[in-house]
Amino acid sequence: MAAQETVDHKYVYDFAEGNKDLKDLLGGKGANLAEMTNLGLPVPPGFTITTEACQAYLATGREPDGLAGQIEAHLESLERGMGRRLGDPHDPLLVSVRSGAKFSMPGMMETVLNVGLNDRSVVGLAAQAGGNERFAWDSYRRLIQMFGKTVCEVPGEEFEHALDEAKRVRGTTSDLDLDADDLRGLVDAYKKIFLKHTGRDFPQEPREQLDLAIRAVFESWNAERAVLYRRQERIPADLGTAVNVVAMVFGNLGPDSGTGVAFTRDPASGAQGIYGDYLANAQGEDVVAGIRNTVPLQDLERLDKRSYDELLAIMARLEGHYRDLCDIEFTIERGKLWMLQTRVGKRTAAAAFVIAGQLVDEGLIDLDEALHRVNGAQLAQLMFPRFQLDHDFEPVAKGVGASPGAASGKVVFTSARAVELAAEGEAVILVRRETNPDDLNGMIAAKGILTSRGGKTSHAAVVARGMGKTCVSGADEIDVNVPAKRFSVAGQTVTEGDVVSIDGTTGKVYLGEVPVTPSEVVRYFEGTLDPDEADDALVRAVHRIMTHADAARRLAVRANADTGADAARARRFGAQGIGLCRTEHMFLGDRRELVERLILARTDTERSDALAALLPLQRDDFVEIFREMDGLPVTVRLIDPPLHEFLPPLEQLAVDVAVAQERGEDVAKEEALLAAVRRMHEENPMLGLRGVRLGLVIPGLFAMQVRAIAEAAVRVTREGGSACPEIMVPLVGAVQELETVRAEAEKIIAEVVGDSGVEVLIGTMIEVPRAALTAGQIAEAAQFFSFGTNDLTQMGWGFSRDDVEGAFFWRYLELGIFGISPFESIDRDGVGRLVRIAAEEGRAARPELKLGVCGEHGGDPESVHFFHSVGLDYVSCSPFRVPVARLEAGRAAVETVGSDSR
Ligand code: ADP
Ligand code: MG
Ligand code: MG
Repeated sequence: MAAQETVDHKYVYDFAEGNKDLKDLLGGKGANLAEMTNLGLPVPPGFTITTEACQAYLATGREPDGLAGQIEAHLESLERGMGRRLGDPHDPLLVSVRSGAKFSMPGMMETVLNVGLNDRSVVGLAAQAGGNERFAWDSYRRLIQMFGKTVCEVPGEEFEHALDEAKRVRGTTSDLDLDADDLRGLVDAYKKIFLKHTGRDFPQEPREQLDLAIRAVFESWNAERAVLYRRQERIPADLGTAVNVVAMVFGNLGPDSGTGVAFTRDPASGAQGIYGDYLANAQGEDVVAGIRNTVPLQDLERLDKRSYDELLAIMARLEGHYRDLCDIEFTIERGKLWMLQTRVGKRTAAAAFVIAGQLVDEGLIDLDEALHRVNGAQLAQLMFPRFQLDHDFEPVAKGVGASPGAASGKVVFTSARAVELAAEGEAVILVRRETNPDDLNGMIAAKGILTSRGGKTSHAAVVARGMGKTCVSGADEIDVNVPAKRFSVAGQTVTEGDVVSIDGTTGKVYLGEVPVTPSEVVRYFEGTLDPDEADDALVRAVHRIMTHADAARRLAVRANADTGADAARARRFGAQGIGLCRTEHMFLGDRRELVERLILARTDTERSDALAALLPLQRDDFVEIFREMDGLPVTVRLIDPPLHEFLPPLEQLAVDVAVAQERGEDVAKEEALLAAVRRMHEENPMLGLRGVRLGLVIPGLFAMQVRAIAEAAVRVTREGGSACPEIMVPLVGAVQELETVRAEAEKIIAEVVGDSGVEVLIGTMIEVPRAALTAGQIAEAAQFFSFGTNDLTQMGWGFSRDDVEGAFFWRYLELGIFGISPFESIDRDGVGRLVRIAAEEGRAARPELKLGVCGEHGGDPESVHFFHSVGLDYVSCSPFRVPVARLEAGRAAVETVGSDSR
């Protein structure tokens, strides 16, 4: 028997055997209880059953061999240490059975207190507590309640009803007014409930109670709410939970006892001080359950000064030891303090920055570590305006929180009206069924966008996120009637000019104005708030950490910007250039007519006339951007989308033409347009006539753009500025495509630039898998690569983004085929491998090749770390994401192995 036990796998650890770094094996709670035990803090003795035991149990449906014997041995040693035995009718040892996984899953799994009480030991417990029968019966009824609910799935309300009934009979609302007899009666009532639901009597055998409770904790790992929570928080499903068996200490022994929770700093603001709640004469769960009003922790100083001082000293010690905000649970049993839990506490985004800054001041951590303690998602959260929560508003509809932030303004239904009102200084909310590329100006002018259709990846959502503009999409309770300029919701009609408020974080829509607070952090980034003068701890902390990130990072950060205004904003946010200037919006709006002329041209002369008319307009666009980005590189992408995107939609046009013909109107022009639209219709536009293919098919199109870029650069340079254009050819798959475009472009550039000193680079996007795989060849003709990871993801996976995100991504996420959409965060193994290959082979062919990435991944924290590791020179993202990318690039640069930021 003894020999058998020595070869058993070790499944049980005494608290004295563990430490805080064993979270995988002992769970967070167990590892930290062990850590506190070894620090010599007053922790009740106990032991931890490992996550491995849980995994084995869940895999086979029974306890692994050796577990029962090891529990027995540890229980015996616990009994010896406490001088009490489990189930002893005269002086029983009671224990708690507590779940505790590697990652804290608040309220997801259960705990049973007072295990070991039965009809006989309850009498012994009362006697040992100096004849305190009330306490003993209160403990017993709690055991039946928690055990019934957690272990045997008895509906918790039934116990609560019985408790309410007992209070009602007593004519009280406080459980403190129930005396020993009331509680004894309640135990009887609870036992009946237990019997009714389980078909058996409440187990009187303490060891059976213990084993069933342990098993229930194992099984709680797979409870539905735990599964849902893990999925949401991306916690792996196979970790399992540990189980902690802890000798009970009692906060319900009378007014000199109690229980509480505390934080070593304010988890909301990060401010230093004492934050916590205390409840006298109560057991654990009562504090959070809110059955009685707790008092602020400071009051404990008056109630029990000695315990209070000891607690403060322990909290200071824990902070120094963990070098971070700690969150603790404690109990006082007749004036003796016991520590029941600690962990590094969760905190708000603002507190994360403030605390990291304070810990640097206190010398507990250095700036590298501070950079680790915060992340880009938190920074992004701090950059959105918020509704002031002290107001009580009822939402009228709820859609998808598509782009976070809070916005109030007058309702408008068209882009034109949005632009008009915004020019008059009005805040407007653009409301539409869905948006399309023509709405861009309206979206720029609006404070927020509300649509009744489409999800997180609809046009409205994607564009709004890119602009950092608040957007609620798919609020389908709203019935939008654009021609009539009104929408109806919840039986009310809202017309143009009425005020609505939208919350892009929660997706909630309110009628009327909800007050909004602008983000201080954005004011700081925009340069309107001086961090040295701000008395705001948050702004100072952000400034300090950002400064360190900028000093540490190796990746440069550029922005995607298509207009002078965007470029200016990007620059204020710290962009070191423009990584993607799209030229297609320069073909929209009032230039549509010229573009139609270009597309419909039947002769070379008609075509070159149209191009000649577009040239000065394009040049002015670039002049504006080069001026704003004086001295910094600007990557201009030649026109990318298929031309029919610039024409009216086929169905609409067909109907218009038919109607006009019916009326006998002259429709020659419309008919020609319709014919062109039909001719250009593509089954698969994503893979059709676009990008470099357009440039090779439509004579003069790319040449016009190249000329406009070069002329703009020369003009800005002659003005005394410095323009650094980089011309980027989209959708290249073969070096010959690039060579052809390049030969023509170089001729034009040489001619325009002359001796002005302007230097124009020519490079390509790498967004077609073939380009990545032949990067060595392509680099011979390219001075830079910019990875277009959106298209690379589409073509790498064979996904058409607009089709797949709504159609089946939910299922892929559910099945775990991917943990996050590959459009949100780069797929390192597949698409990322293409990037790596292209970077390596491109650099091998041309060592000075500049490498960057443009597209939404450039502002995604996870992806930024990947691009750092592949050795790119820069990432480019929307202006609003620039600070996030700067921060994450800094974090990537100081990353140490094995850090655990969760
Ligand atoms: P949770 O993870 O939900 O916080 P816990 O295992 O920490 O669950 O336990 C729930 C409550 O019971 C806590 O307030 C805790 O402090 C208290 N508690 C747990 N074990 C004991 C014990 N041995 N003695 C006294 N109170 C305990
Ligand atoms: Mg707890
Ligand atoms: Mg592309």
